[in-house]
Amino acid sequence: MIVRLLLCPICFPPLAWEEVSGYDEHMNTIRTYQVCNVFDSNQNNWVRTKYIRRRGAQRIHVEMKFSVRDCSSIPNVPGSCKETFNLYYYESDSDTATRTSPAWMENPWIKVDTIAADESFSQVDLGGRVMKINTEVRSFGPVSKNGFYLAFQDYGGCMSLIAVRVFYRKCPRIITNGALFQETLSGAESTSLVAARGVCIPNAEEVDVPIKLYCNGDGEWMVPIGRCMCKAGNEAVENGTVCRACPSGFFKPTQGDESCMQCPINSRTTSEGAINCICRNGYYRTDSDPLQMPCTTVPSAPQTVISSVNETSVMLEWMPPRDSGGREDVVYNIICKSCGGGRGGCTRCGDNVQFLPRQLGLTKSRVYISDLLAHTQYTFEVQAVNGVSDQSPYSPQYASVNITTNQAAPSTVSIMHQVSRTVDSITLSWSQPDQPNGVILDYELQYYEKDQSEYNSTTIRSQTNTAVIRGLKSGSIYVFQVRARTVAGFGRYSGKLYFQTMTEEEYNTSIQEKLPLIIGSAAAGLVFLIALVVIIIVCNRRGFDRGDSEYTDKLQHYTSGHMSPGMKIYIDPFTYEDPNEAVREFAKEIDISCVKIEQVIGAGEFGEVCSGNLKLPGKREMFVAIKTLKSGYTEKQRRDFLSEASIMGQFDHPNVIHLEGVVTKSSPVMIITEFMENGSLDTFLRQNDGQFTVIQLVGMLRGIASGMKYLADMNYVHRDLAARNILVNSNLVCKVSDFGLSRFLEDDTSDPTYTSALGGKIPIRWTAPEAIQYRKFTSASDVWSYGIVMWEVMSYGERPYWDMTNQDVINAIEQDYRLPPPMDCPNALHQLMLDCWQKDRNNRPKFSQIVNNLDKMIRNPNTLKAMTPLSSGVHLPLLDRSIPDFSTFSTVDEWLDAIKMGQYKENFANSDFSTFDVVSQMTME
Ligand code: AMP
Repeated sequence: MIVRLLLCPICFPPLAWEEVSGYDEHMNTIRTYQVCNVFDSNQNNWVRTKYIRRRGAQRIHVEMKFSVRDCSSIPNVPGSCKETFNLYYYESDSDTATRTSPAWMENPWIKVDTIAADESFSQVDLGGRVMKINTEVRSFGPVSKNGFYLAFQDYGGCMSLIAVRVFYRKCPRIITNGALFQETLSGAESTSLVAARGVCIPNAEEVDVPIKLYCNGDGEWMVPIGRCMCKAGNEAVENGTVCRACPSGFFKPTQGDESCMQCPINSRTTSEGAINCICRNGYYRTDSDPLQMPCTTVPSAPQTVISSVNETSVMLEWMPPRDSGGREDVVYNIICKSCGGGRGGCTRCGDNVQFLPRQLGLTKSRVYISDLLAHTQYTFEVQAVNGVSDQSPYSPQYASVNITTNQAAPSTVSIMHQVSRTVDSITLSWSQPDQPNGVILDYELQYYEKDQSEYNSTTIRSQTNTAVIRGLKSGSIYVFQVRARTVAGFGRYSGKLYFQTMTEEEYNTSIQEKLPLIIGSAAAGLVFLIALVVIIIVCNRRGFDRGDSEYTDKLQHYTSGHMSPGMKIYIDPFTYEDPNEAVREFAKEIDISCVKIEQVIGAGEFGEVCSGNLKLPGKREMFVAIKTLKSGYTEKQRRDFLSEASIMGQFDHPNVIHLEGVVTKSSPVMIITEFMENGSLDTFLRQNDGQFTVIQLVGMLRGIASGMKYLADMNYVHRDLAARNILVNSNLVCKVSDFGLSRFLEDDTSDPTYTSALGGKIPIRWTAPEAIQYRKFTSASDVWSYGIVMWEVMSYGERPYWDMTNQDVINAIEQDYRLPPPMDCPNALHQLMLDCWQKDRNNRPKFSQIVNNLDKMIRNPNTLKAMTPLSSGVHLPLLDRSIPDFSTFSTVDEWLDAIKMGQYKENFANSDFSTFDVVSQMTME
């Protein structure tokens, strides 16, 4: 803003300054105010501007053009002559100045500065004066009222004021760093920095916040902070001041300064501003394909499949597809169909056909397929798939080949175990080869003493899959191998297995172990006992096959005669010389990359138990439980830990926990099983006390019995059947679990449930008396434990025998006391429990009978209505199963005291059970 002092301003004294016409340096005519009273002393001449509006400015700048006469050039000038003048300002909210107000003096006026000329002049040309014009700029602030006046004070100089320009500074509206900053006025001081917030321009977004610039005293922007960038689908143009949508056929996947890119081959955009290009029909992209990569398609079929058949195996080789679909991740899948059914159709091959290196996802164009059936026609389809095959609605393209297998010898016998042994004989049994490839004519068993050469081996033939090998040395280890024979000849020998005959000492100990059994069950006289021992010794010396008497702790009873053909039998992993071999045989190795651990759900004997997910190639992801082996384990602990998997892996039943596999090739070692949402049965029942109907509880018991029947049929003895070892899934299906053997082998008494006995620990409350006394663990002792589980279930997880000590439990059982029915337990169920707790194990029901019995109850729920009256009121600690001998007691109270049931005296009295006559006729009801 330029204020020219053309109109006469208010002056003081009124004639102090005069308005004169003159010329500037360029000889332009100008009007000036001048004063030149140098010869008069005490000069004080003011001239004032009109009212100037502030317009928001905080600091005002004043540019003055003036000329000053050099005092020394004026002849006879007094010493009071000045070459300077003063600049003042006065703030006011309105234009109120008059001739006398504000008073012509400093305060009220505020002095800005004394202004001196840089150049003064000495010559005056009166015809058209030539002056040296000075320009000076001063500023002042902060100003806050609506406006102000300026005043110039001369105090004895000779000068003229030519022009005054009054202005303020501001930073202009700009777009920088992707943001718009509005016009901003400079601050009150020349050093002030005024912060201004920027706003992202359309289609840009903040990358760094806050977005700021500072306006300095000179009206310049400085110190940029933060920035905005064009959004995905938009690019910066016009020097970064505009974000423009990518044109059609172009895309920009992310926010940033980059330009839009052209769509890759086989893709297109559907509108402007695309953040990606979509694939054309028939072309696809995987999740991991970069957006810049061309869209790809499925491969064509593999070419020229060549097959070479060798007996029951075939090698397939082929050429890669002509068109890989534009990708480099082509792999091959083999579909196997057997077409030998005679009805013309083909069916998918079973699981037993082996593919090497694998069936799906082959990276090389070759596969070896074995374990096919002999004399069978097969069709193999070799599919080519790549990363986008899954997205195509069409099945992969394939090339196929038909082959017919030849005659083949039987496959190897993979499972052999010891049935029994004496000092000079071993009885072995083995399974049929998985692929007999015809009728097995017989087996050939080869054996030799471990320390001898294989060349000294003996061979014997057997028509069945068992053999008694006699005439062996006592306490010696023998190496055995067996092979099967069909019309096509012998199969290959099985792997070597080592079995040892008994030493004389072991033999004597085994006889002693039998004594309590013989005494207890036969209750015969001493003469009979001696006779029996003599007979046993004589029979054994002759190599008599003695059935179940000699099996060791590790081996489980097996009588081949009872087995139905094709029935699988359980094999103890410790009969393998290298138990790792058993793991390899029975448990599938899982790659750790397929396992995702989620959370710890419990503590196992060897480490944490976690839940997680298992995603096996080609299978749906499933929820699993993962038992881990804690680090720092010994080789023995590793073996014991994995033995559970070797056992579990042999089972396949809906009421037995299912093994998914093991991780042994990386750390930590893991056992992976199906996940059971409701955890262990005992805790589950305690948490849901009284919540289930009797039929639901019986349904659970039926499941457990069915799992146990399966295990018993496989000749597996559990030894630790208890509610804590049953797992429950979300459908209330109960499954038998906990197949760890280590507990029975180690002597660690840290868990009070298990009492250490010679050769292993025994869960006393769950264990049958014969198993406690002389470790006679059989399926019948499992039935006893099952009776205890029934009691646990019906009492919703009550502790069997409550707080009685283990020794008291042993004594009570010995004296024929049994657990009473839990509250609201139907009679029929308690009767079944009592049957399971028969002293003579031969009188206990078999698991198959228990299953049938429970099935009947479920079908006829009326049978579950009858309850024991005692159960609703009195809680009898233990029932005496024998007929009481009252002869030594004179009163019923005395008898109750003696049998430690004194607390029930009142109940007996109230129910009129006051004489032995009445008591002896007391029935369950
Ligand atoms: P264990 O070592 O088998 O006694 O397992 C310890 C605890 O882990 C059990 O008491 C269960 O609570 C839990 N657990 C073990 N296996 C599973 C499973 N398959 N599903 C769910 N929980 C399990």
